[in-house]
Amino acid sequence: MHYAVLGTGIVGRTVAARLADLGHDVVIGTRDPAATAARDEYADWQAAQPQVRLAAFPEAAREGETLVNATGGQVSIAALTEADAAHLDGKVLIDIANPLDFSQGFPPSLDPVNADSLGELIQRTFPRLRVVKTLNTMNCRIMVDPARVAGEHHVFLSGEDADAKKAVRELLHSFGWAERSILDLGGIETARGTEMLLPVWLRLMGALGHTDFNFHIQGA
Ligand code: NAP
Repeated sequence: MHYAVLGTGIVGRTVAARLADLGHDVVIGTRDPAATAARDEYADWQAAQPQVRLAAFPEAAREGETLVNATGGQVSIAALTEADAAHLDGKVLIDIANPLDFSQGFPPSLDPVNADSLGELIQRTFPRLRVVKTLNTMNCRIMVDPARVAGEHHVFLSGEDADAKKAVRELLHSFGWAERSILDLGGIETARGTEMLLPVWLRLMGALGHTDFNFHIQGA
């Protein structure tokens, strides 16, 4: 499968590396490939992942059959707009981003929130994309290696397109998620709920002092 991971931060790099390890063809998207390649942190990662290609957002989106949104939540619409709607049409977008607003410092607030969500905003803005919100409620190392957290714990799915959710489920299985650990919450509107877990997640990180934890829904 050809994947385009939009975003070169820790999430994009972690997911891209895992996809490549699984044998997929992976391109990672950025605004300015030359500038990104010159960043020490990115260059070190790229040296360890020579099979992942770096490309500008439009080229990456054009090449990818399935897309991953790993851009900052406040800039996801800008990044997808730059990727070009023509390259998004009909494709599955796995949306991992959270609409965290750090403009007033830490802890961040959410925008949009309550009566809207980033998942819905992306789906409304790009109606021909098949948006599946998932994996946004945990640290990225757990996304691709759930065994990092002992015992049962859960990952959520939100989206309108049943076939897209089925394909994402299969990808989650390949990351190590058991079928019973995947909770389909329903349509993309349910992304409001998972995005609004972030204020809880951030306080848990503060209280626990680490990020190797996840939500376990007793009774699921
Ligand atoms: P990030 O720093 O939030 O975002 C990095 C990406 O955003 C880069 O690719 C950057 O482009 C792009 N970007 C920044 N400003 C832009 C703009 N004005 N227009 C277009 N693109 C722009 O990366 P991250 O920490 O890896 O997080 C990615 C997403 O995952 C976030 O939404 C975050 O909330 C969510 N998330 C993170 C974790 C985690 O474990 N850290 C867990 C769950 C969810 P360039 O490549 O050009 O710099």
